[in-house]
Amino acid sequence: MSTITLILIILLGLALGSFSNVCIYRIPQRRSILIPSSFCPKCGAKIRPYDNIPLLSYIILKGRCRNCKAKISVQYPLVEFITSALLTLAYLRFGLTWDFAAGGILIILMILTFFIDLKHRIIPDVLTFPGIVLGFLLSFVVKSPSVLNSILGILVGGGMFYLAAILGELLFKKESMGGGDIKLAMMLGAFLGWQKILLVLLLSALLGSLIGGTTLFFSKDVKETRTIPFGPFLALGAIIAMFAGDALISAYLKTFF
Ligand SMILES: [Zn+2]
Repeated sequence: MSTITLILIILLGLALGSFSNVCIYRIPQRRSILIPSSFCPKCGAKIRPYDNIPLLSYIILKGRCRNCKAKISVQYPLVEFITSALLTLAYLRFGLTWDFAAGGILIILMILTFFIDLKHRIIPDVLTFPGIVLGFLLSFVVKSPSVLNSILGILVGGGMFYLAAILGELLFKKESMGGGDIKLAMMLGAFLGWQKILLVLLLSALLGSLIGGTTLFFSKDVKETRTIPFGPFLALGAIIAMFAGDALISAYLKTFF
């Protein structure tokens, strides 16, 4: 693990974070993520390459468009920072291996899911369908999960969420969990295996009731809190399971069995 590789990974993370920002903005609008190049959403001015440097440009421009001085959302540098930080953590954890590649892809997919579902209440099929296939294919080369475990992960993830969706409809007489969540769970199962998808379910339910409950407590608008999307919690749970899943599962088994 050399310093140069580490620096390259940090920079790669920033570049991927910048690309993630484009995806978060354009995928819900069903627009191409490759063309045209970035422009200011307010005035439409093309963003020059020297104004498009991750983190730095935001600081130099003091968070405003060079042309019209409109405020640039803090989400942009935030996504760049989180992507780079998580990718670096994955490198430190897995080294330059296939598990790092798979982890890196899962990190990007989770960041996209988190922000797109939070803002638009959708989990796009263009993320989950290729994600399921990719997670499965990567199981042939990674140390964990095995190919069989990846298949089981898809089935268990999809099955659990399908059941939860049916149960939710019976109990609340309305759709409580979207099809997007089911496909997301299948994708996470493909990447993490059946044990960790169960952990993700547990973690996201915990996080969801904790954060959802707090929001409910402080919010006057009950209607708004009823529609808190579940995808962001699944994304958080998946990141935790990816880094700490083995430790958490063995601690759980030691405590209860
Ligand atoms: Zn502008």
